[in-house]
Amino acid sequence: MKVLSVNCGSSSLKFQMYEMPEEKVLISGNFERIGIEGSFYTVKFNGEKAKKEVALENHKEAFQILIQELLDYKVVENLEEVGGIGHRVVQGGDYFDKTVVVDDEVIAKIEELSTLAPLHNPAAIIGIKAAQEVFPNATQTVVFDTAFHQTMPEENYLYALPYDFYEKYKVRRYGAHGTSHKYVALRANEILGRENTRLITCHIGNGASISAIKDGKCINTSMGLTPNAGLIMGSRCGDIDATIVTYLIDKKGFSASEIEKVMNKESGFLGISGVSSDSRDIEAGIEAGNEKCILAQRMYVKRIVDYIAKYYMELGGCDAIIFTAGVGENSMGVRLGVMNGLAAIGVKADPEANNIRGEERMVSAADSSIPCYIIPTDEEVMIARDTYALAQ
Ligand code: ADP
Repeated sequence: MKVLSVNCGSSSLKFQMYEMPEEKVLISGNFERIGIEGSFYTVKFNGEKAKKEVALENHKEAFQILIQELLDYKVVENLEEVGGIGHRVVQGGDYFDKTVVVDDEVIAKIEELSTLAPLHNPAAIIGIKAAQEVFPNATQTVVFDTAFHQTMPEENYLYALPYDFYEKYKVRRYGAHGTSHKYVALRANEILGRENTRLITCHIGNGASISAIKDGKCINTSMGLTPNAGLIMGSRCGDIDATIVTYLIDKKGFSASEIEKVMNKESGFLGISGVSSDSRDIEAGIEAGNEKCILAQRMYVKRIVDYIAKYYMELGGCDAIIFTAGVGENSMGVRLGVMNGLAAIGVKADPEANNIRGEERMVSAADSSIPCYIIPTDEEVMIARDTYALAQ
């Protein structure tokens, strides 16, 4: 069966088509600037990438072009071959703890949850509706970034605010990157050869989160009601004293949306270094002796170490630490700093093994108390797996 993994943003549509159950990628690509002047798309087929400029009014047009590409590249002979389409959805609230088949009620819930993910959930709905029109016979599913974290116990997902904020306004920790944390945890269990494991998974990209996973189930995660909790990120501050918000509103006369912008778009690596939100630029700054970049990286690494130490206690030990996503897979400096920062619990890096980018491998020393691995993430294949299971 051919299954399409789809990730819709308000002006973008990323796709990857699989032959399932083999999990073979047949074609992938990205439509950008949908509804904006200068729209284009890229397609990758047989290792070759092509970029084409084309006017894209809306997501439906993008899907129609996608179909034409599938036919032109002979990925499919007819559309009946596409059995399932899995859509990534950022926020599933506490309604969804697993992937589900789309129906009107599901769409209504995703819509209701848009207040918690105003940029992402509405875009996903646009994508789902467009796909339903263009692929009327395929099973449409929704795969939620929050679903994997629904197994957290109450004491970990509640904030110590008046309880009725949770009841009335759904204020609680939901987490994010769940599909990625789940993927690397499954892979780690395969590497370890068992399922009863205590894992700490570090999804560190531009956005970043850490999860504590026991026997395949998430028991805690660092992102909160929104993604701006926990770790220091590219341009997000992560955990701060919440009262700083009201203090700055008083001091600088910020509006709520202004302070939100500062915390999400002007903080983190960017805010501290004044240079960039991209860890590659921070590393180049460190090479050049830029003190703010050195400080930004030290703070960034320290926060990761703090969370791992906390989850180590919570899990009652740890069988493996996993690094994934852009920074986790590629930044030798961040990984080395994190492993060195965990020396007190016996973690020891293998600097030579760690001298690698984007490849699955153990990066800790043979005598490290906890093995540390790079496991490149693959959220698309998880979407395809779940969709294939439901479409059968
Ligand atoms: P997201 O999906 O959250 O946008 P990614 O997981 O793609 O983020 O990670 C993007 C980040 O990964 C970039 O901002 C950059 O900081 C980091 N990154 C990518 N390649 C490298 C590299 N070679 N060295 C260091 N950092 C890298």
